[in-house]
Amino acid sequence: MLEVSKLSKNYGKTQAVKNVNFTVNAGEVAVLAGPNGAGKSTIIKSIAGLLKYEGKIEICGYDNKSIKGKSALGYIPELPSLFPLLTISEHLTLMAHAFNIKNHEKRAEELLKLFDLWDKKDKYGSDLSKGMQQKASICCALITEPKVLLVDEPMLGLDPKAIRNMKELLIKLKNEGVAIVVSTHLLDSVQELWDRILIMKNGEFVLSKARSEFNNEFKSLEEIFFEFTEE
Ligand code: ADP
Repeated sequence: MLEVSKLSKNYGKTQAVKNVNFTVNAGEVAVLAGPNGAGKSTIIKSIAGLLKYEGKIEICGYDNKSIKGKSALGYIPELPSLFPLLTISEHLTLMAHAFNIKNHEKRAEELLKLFDLWDKKDKYGSDLSKGMQQKASICCALITEPKVLLVDEPMLGLDPKAIRNMKELLIKLKNEGVAIVVSTHLLDSVQELWDRILIMKNGEFVLSKARSEFNNEFKSLEEIFFEFTEE
């Protein structure tokens, strides 16, 4: 579903990502973790097609910069960026038109109700609180029914109810066969969800392991994280 091969990215002399490879299959959640500056955002932005890079990134077998690749990808950025003069409803309509999604209204209503935004659907982007913007941004990414979903710090800025809804939604999407990459420092928040842990340090993976490969030895993601990132 998502295949990243030989991905490298330099910013001038800084090698932010060094020849990274990974695959996330349908119905799998990969957690991307690592200390600040490890290269996580660079990977996420490369997959989202926002950066130039070396290597190959395929979404459902299509190059991530092709129309077919882009239309199968959903991206929830860490910082939402809404249009100040469009309402929440108009954002969803815009996304649906851009991705040629027909009859998006029912899904839009379900998503907005799930995130308590239904009664705020006619509010302008500029009039939303930070948390509301984050929830609207999540709805924008999901209205297109992506097959691959990139989520950068999904729980940041959300209230407890929205965090619970977001977790349940990620489980539902996983069960529906969406391949999900979650970049987060809040490892507890994805403890129930993950199938593969990718730990980065200095632009490389210091661990890329499936949950099933841990052979029944129970370890929290936090324990695994410190084992592989502490000197
Ligand atoms: P993370 O998301 O894991 O915190 P980043 O991908 O943001 O890490 O950064 C990886 C490395 O690339 C860091 O050394 C960072 O300073 C550098 N970097 C990130 N963005 C830029 C940029 N726009 N210009 C120059 N260096 C950058």
